[in-house]
Amino acid sequence: MEVAIVGGGPAGATAARKLLDGCRDPLRVTLFEEKRGWEKPCGGGLPAKAVRRYPFLTDACHEFTRVREAELVAGNGESARFRLRGPLLVYSRANLNQLLLAKAEGAGASVVSDRIRGVRRDGSRWRLEGRSSTYSADFLILAAGVRTMLRRALTPSLKASDCMLTFGYYTPAVDSVLRIQFFDDFEGYAWAFPRPDHLSVGICGKYGDGSMPELQERLWSFMRQFDYPVRLEDRFSHLLPALDSTSWRSIALAGEQWAMVGDSAGLVDPLTGEGIYFAMRSGELLAEALRAGSPAVYAETVWREFGERLALGARLAPRFYHGKFLGRSSTTRLVEFCSRSPAFMALLQDLFEGSQSYTGLASRVYRTFGKGVFEMAAYAIGRRLHLQRGLPSV
Ligand SMILES: Cc1cc2nc3c(=O)[nH]c(=O)nc-3n(C[C@H](O)[C@H](O)[C@H](O)COP(=O)(O)OP(=O)(O)OC[C@H]3O[C@@H](n4cnc5c(N)ncnc54)[C@H](O)[C@@H]3O)c2cc1C
Repeated sequence: MEVAIVGGGPAGATAARKLLDGCRDPLRVTLFEEKRGWEKPCGGGLPAKAVRRYPFLTDACHEFTRVREAELVAGNGESARFRLRGPLLVYSRANLNQLLLAKAEGAGASVVSDRIRGVRRDGSRWRLEGRSSTYSADFLILAAGVRTMLRRALTPSLKASDCMLTFGYYTPAVDSVLRIQFFDDFEGYAWAFPRPDHLSVGICGKYGDGSMPELQERLWSFMRQFDYPVRLEDRFSHLLPALDSTSWRSIALAGEQWAMVGDSAGLVDPLTGEGIYFAMRSGELLAEALRAGSPAVYAETVWREFGERLALGARLAPRFYHGKFLGRSSTTRLVEFCSRSPAFMALLQDLFEGSQSYTGLASRVYRTFGKGVFEMAAYAIGRRLHLQRGLPSV
């Protein structure tokens, strides 16, 4: 069988590697990538669960930052700093993409530097129109990211409301703290991710929740607040999938002799914007299903393993970013609670580590709330006594 993969990012490269790794069947995998090893606009952050599943990420490449401390900043300026249970690895995307493509080639995939401009069925085969040549294959994997026009040949395009706008800067500064800034009544956040020799500083906002100039103003105020320098020529901008809950209901991941993985399929957490792990994992699950001769199983496994959780994230996102709790925005309350209550802080650490899923989150918040109220009352009493004794504010 001949498999054509369009796109050599985390999803496509992982699918290629997994299809061929230790495979004895006669299988030819060709991966088409138009910008091999480019610096794809991205924070480049990978949680501990990704390293547990793909240990080669740290064995084979040492150009990443291990971030152990994070800070959440609320719209009112209050902040909560905490230690991550497992380090977050932050890669330059050029390094990460090179590493994953090298792994795919090592397993036997042919990587062709070409841009695929169109795909169509030709009898029982696929025809792919490249810039320089025409190619054909039995099975087509679309792994070309969120902006691809090729999706239209397989399934309806993503709607604007299924995306976030993003933009940011690669900033010449060094820091050891990962920072996330929320804004009141705004579905998105600004971030600063430390990389070995610079920071990736950016902002994402749900489509329709503010124009590009408004995003820019929010990001610049975040950068001014933390003295992050702006180098205008190092600006990046891209779309980020953030499927709304109705789109999760109609998502089509595969059809006759084709499948989509990663951003092309919209497999990103709508609450956090995390997508690299899901891109790699979807590539892997598709490869396993193909090797087992049952590609139809792919969509079911994705749904069971993480799709359902991401769909729940889509329902939570508007409530989390636009909701109010006890008279203040939910994001501000989250920061307040975490800075004052060890029980809430533990919950946040679990969310960052990936050990607390969205399923079960509501009951955990409910359980934590009672304990958290006592801890916050103790914090308030302690603070008042502290001030009464004339000590500096804590
Ligand atoms: C600003 C920003 C910050 C982000 N930060 C994070 C983060 O910190 N952590 C995280 O987990 N996720 C993050 N994400 C999401 C993450 O970048 C994506 O989920 C991830 O890259 C998806 O991988 P992919 O392989 O599906 O697609 P991509 O990485 O987009 O790869 C697609 C590849 O296909 C190639 N291609 C496209 N069209 C063609 C064509 N016609 N022919 C040939 N090649 C083609 C492209 O050149 C590209 O290399 C962020 C996204 C954005 C926009």
